[in-house]
Amino acid sequence: MHVVPLPALADNYIWLLHDDSGHAIVVDPGEAQPVEEALHARKLKLCAILLTHHHNDHIGGAAALRAAHGALIYAPEDERISAATHRVRDGETLILAQPEARFQIIAVPGHTLSHIVYAGEGVLLCGDTLFSLGCGRLFEGTPAQMLSSLQRIASLPGDLLVCCGHEYTVANGRFAQTVEPGNTALKQRLDDVAKLRAKQQPSVPAPLSSELACNPFLRVNSNDVIAWCRQHGAANDDPVARFAALRSAKDGFQA
Ligand code: ZN
Ligand code: FE
Repeated sequence: MHVVPLPALADNYIWLLHDDSGHAIVVDPGEAQPVEEALHARKLKLCAILLTHHHNDHIGGAAALRAAHGALIYAPEDERISAATHRVRDGETLILAQPEARFQIIAVPGHTLSHIVYAGEGVLLCGDTLFSLGCGRLFEGTPAQMLSSLQRIASLPGDLLVCCGHEYTVANGRFAQTVEPGNTALKQRLDDVAKLRAKQQPSVPAPLSSELACNPFLRVNSNDVIAWCRQHGAANDDPVARFAALRSAKDGFQA
């Protein structure tokens, strides 16, 4: 499967997956036009649209793409996603015939309550739950829910490529470095990201193993994060409190 990030809106990525025979999937099309252009340029047939959560910057183009191409729309159970043709639930395996693909569905409440991720075909399609070097804001869920969602993601195979919904890596990295200034894997990743962004290339996807080494929101049990909580007067005795402290510090962080 070929995996291509399509820049959309201000800083979104729509993920395009396609096989060698020209059958395509798109993930979280916040608008239709970048998808139409990519389908045309690559001579692809759009067969399926996967949605992770109800925010308009992830679903805004889905109905138009379905109207134009007849593609099926897979989405979590949520009445705010009215364009869906098929609902998928936690624990299910989504099996597509064209392109031939299988994805494990995992419920990840936190950014929104009905947010799901799709894992399979070497990729993790994770919307606004996990970002490179960061995680989504808690619009609907609690810190405990989001931490538990991220921990489920963290237990997946490390070679999965993290295909997230936004290009937020540089700003996330600035915050991450304030939390773990001594993390050499993080420093290396930031050097790599700076080179990619200087060439206007996407900083994603990166393997999940890299996020486990660099992303503070996946590292609430690291000595650096525990020490950071202590220095910032945050409760440091339990992982949920550490996660909540990190998340609220990031919310107020000016990069
Ligand atoms: Zn969102
Ligand atoms: Fe978003």
